[in-house]
Amino acid sequence: MVCVGPSVRLNSLSEQFLDSDDPVEKVYKALERIEKTRGLNAFITVDKEGALRSAEELKRRIRTGGKKGRLAGLLVAVKDNISTRGLRTTCASRMLENYVPVYDATVVEKIKMEDGIVIGKTNMDEFAMGSSTETSFFGPTRNFFDHSRVSGGSSGGSAVSLATGAVELALGSDTGGSIRNPAAFNSVVGLKPTYGRVSRYGLIAYASSLDQIGPMARDTLSTALLLQVIAGSDPRDLTTSSREPSNYVEEATREARGLRIGIVKEGFMNIDEKISAKVYDAIGVLEKNGCSVEEVSFPFMKYALPAYYIIAMAECSSNLARFDGIRYGGRRAEGRWEERIVKIRTEGFGEEVKRRIFLGTFVLSAGYKEDFYMKACRVRRKIHDDFKLLFRDFDALAMPTMPVLPWRTGEIVSPLEMYMMDFETVAVNLAGLPAISIPAGFVNSLPVGLQLVGDHFEEATLLRLSYGYEAETGFTKWLRTPG
Ligand code: GLN
Repeated sequence: MVCVGPSVRLNSLSEQFLDSDDPVEKVYKALERIEKTRGLNAFITVDKEGALRSAEELKRRIRTGGKKGRLAGLLVAVKDNISTRGLRTTCASRMLENYVPVYDATVVEKIKMEDGIVIGKTNMDEFAMGSSTETSFFGPTRNFFDHSRVSGGSSGGSAVSLATGAVELALGSDTGGSIRNPAAFNSVVGLKPTYGRVSRYGLIAYASSLDQIGPMARDTLSTALLLQVIAGSDPRDLTTSSREPSNYVEEATREARGLRIGIVKEGFMNIDEKISAKVYDAIGVLEKNGCSVEEVSFPFMKYALPAYYIIAMAECSSNLARFDGIRYGGRRAEGRWEERIVKIRTEGFGEEVKRRIFLGTFVLSAGYKEDFYMKACRVRRKIHDDFKLLFRDFDALAMPTMPVLPWRTGEIVSPLEMYMMDFETVAVNLAGLPAISIPAGFVNSLPVGLQLVGDHFEEATLLRLSYGYEAETGFTKWLRTPG
């Protein structure tokens, strides 16, 4: 029995995992689980009525021999920046504290069509800006393995809701690592799809040229299944690709033998030796599964972080202009128009969001745009091209997901230090590539993630590698007995 925090015992929780054929009973069990782990603060809103209604409807349909969707009875947690009709969607911001969308995001619509049951909205960094879920207006989400530490972010609530066993599937969004980082920090699987593979219609935008919604789960096949459901073109998001998605579940089970893995040397720069050793062990498992491995160099990778932050902030300063309390951001204020907007935005946004709006406005301003924004765009192109060269010789690239172990809540106070935590994840978003984080074991009883990056639209390759690795390591069991 492992005691993971002040009050919650891991094993006793995992043992009663939701193993029921009755969707209604499952929802009740999940609600109980959510209640028991409330201290972790994984959910902003729990939709008890909505989930029960869907479960009852499904139960009736099953009883009368009706059709069942591909996600029938599976419980899904949705990050709170993804719109859900009639269900509060806050982006973890005071600005949207009471915002209730009138439509479902395409991904939510697809999940519901396949009979997945949305049980609630998960905690995140405010407007997805952060790496730890500490900037949420609703308080930080706690790490599943050590409650005094961060869950990672910004999709921290989604990762923790999976780790606690409250749900089988979760949606996250990844602009610069927000799916992979919390997946690594809580020993679950998180996949950031190729830019354009999954519709972003209904995702509250942070940085539109980088944002991507993706699946998270405890195991590879669940991740593949959720991707299969949400992937595909969408006339309401013109950045989606018309390319047919693969059958990810089937593809995942194909042997990984013969795949060529490049180990990115720069991804191991300034990384704790013990973390490196774990990640190398994990790569060793891929080798054992018949993959070839070879070290490669990506010297330009170190410029990804500054380029990412310039581009992300520039785009966010523009995207967040719509929150003026008139159409979006329902806060009230008195006075003249300008005064009201200033007041609403001053009160509605948290410190980190404001910092980014300021910096983003600055890098786009006349006289500086060329030096900062345009230069960052050129770096972005170079990173894209360098990746493409590597994918001539390799099917996937491997490196750690995170440079450090989950830190203590409140420990990182410098914004710059926090940004540095994204060193391993942001290059992928600049290039629009797919990447997955899979559990790689533990250092000091805290989880480590292995990150695999694929060529555009090669999600299936990443899932194949993950599936073979899972079969070899049985990593889903680690959620019960870390170490
Ligand atoms: N940590 C990165 C940032 O703050 C990435 C966040 C994300 O992927 N949404 O921008």
